[in-house]
Amino acid sequence: MSARTVGRVRAISAMDLRRFLKVSLAGVLAAALAVGCGGDSEEGSGEALAEDQPIQATVTTNIIGDLVEQVGGDDVEVTALMGPGVDPHLYNASQGDVSALQDADVVFYNGLFLEGQMQDILVQVGQDSPTVQVTGNVPEEELLESEDYEDQFDPHVWFDLDLWQTAVDPVVEQLSELRPDAAEDFEQRGEEYQQELEEADTFVEESISSILEEQRVLVTAHDAFRYFGERYGIEVQGLQGISTDAEVGSGDVQEVADFLAEREIGAIYSETSVPPRGIESVQAATQDRGWDVEIGGELYGDALGEPGTATGTLAGAMRQNAEIIEEGLT
Ligand SMILES: [Zn+2]
Repeated sequence: MSARTVGRVRAISAMDLRRFLKVSLAGVLAAALAVGCGGDSEEGSGEALAEDQPIQATVTTNIIGDLVEQVGGDDVEVTALMGPGVDPHLYNASQGDVSALQDADVVFYNGLFLEGQMQDILVQVGQDSPTVQVTGNVPEEELLESEDYEDQFDPHVWFDLDLWQTAVDPVVEQLSELRPDAAEDFEQRGEEYQQELEEADTFVEESISSILEEQRVLVTAHDAFRYFGERYGIEVQGLQGISTDAEVGSGDVQEVADFLAEREIGAIYSETSVPPRGIESVQAATQDRGWDVEIGGELYGDALGEPGTATGTLAGAMRQNAEIIEEGLT
């Protein structure tokens, strides 16, 4: 039985079921609301601001912060609620966050239940200001089904840099509605951001394909890397499921350790937004089996690095991820 299968069994525990029902209900509300003010209706799309007035945009993760900053340039002031190292699955909005969401001209979020604890507040804010799901344009057939939650999709779309290009249009469109005078600039910067993604995409592809095929296995703290695996051709095993809200069981650790020792995999990885103890136990359990697996480093999973550094952008973080994965598995 693989770690995946364990994840699925865990998904039907009473706790998760309750959580699932809760988020499903929020999802239904969100969907009803989206239908209510979507389409051609102007409601909820926000009124145009004065020329030269910077748009106040509040976003959930710093991955979306990077996207909106790059598209928005000087015409947008971005507040990202979740900084480096923050886990979006468990994140609860503080009172200050609620104000930042309510005071914004526009809110951008990932959706697909990445921000699992913020569904209610996003629905609420959406009644007053434009609230845009940046994964809204991903074709449904490209979305991976969640392995933990029935009828849900895996939210970690940004790990496929090609697919993440679809996140640009919803941002360009919404910003252009708020500031029609800057529409051309948004369009232009959107294309530049896409170009940056394309270059990083090629870089990652080349790095991963240079790893020997039998070593092309990525073991990480949680199941964030499935889109990465699909796009760049590497088998992916997460110690925790798609969300991080369940405890890692010792059975999971033992199974992953068996797998690593049997396949003689060189390295496993922690993630900046997940505590390292799970991955450390895997390393110890693998060593008990006589195979010395190293912790190859910390990957940027659900959060980017510090703003202003190379890994503060998605393209930069993904390049660094690819480099340390290549290094550890070669
Ligand atoms: Zn995640």
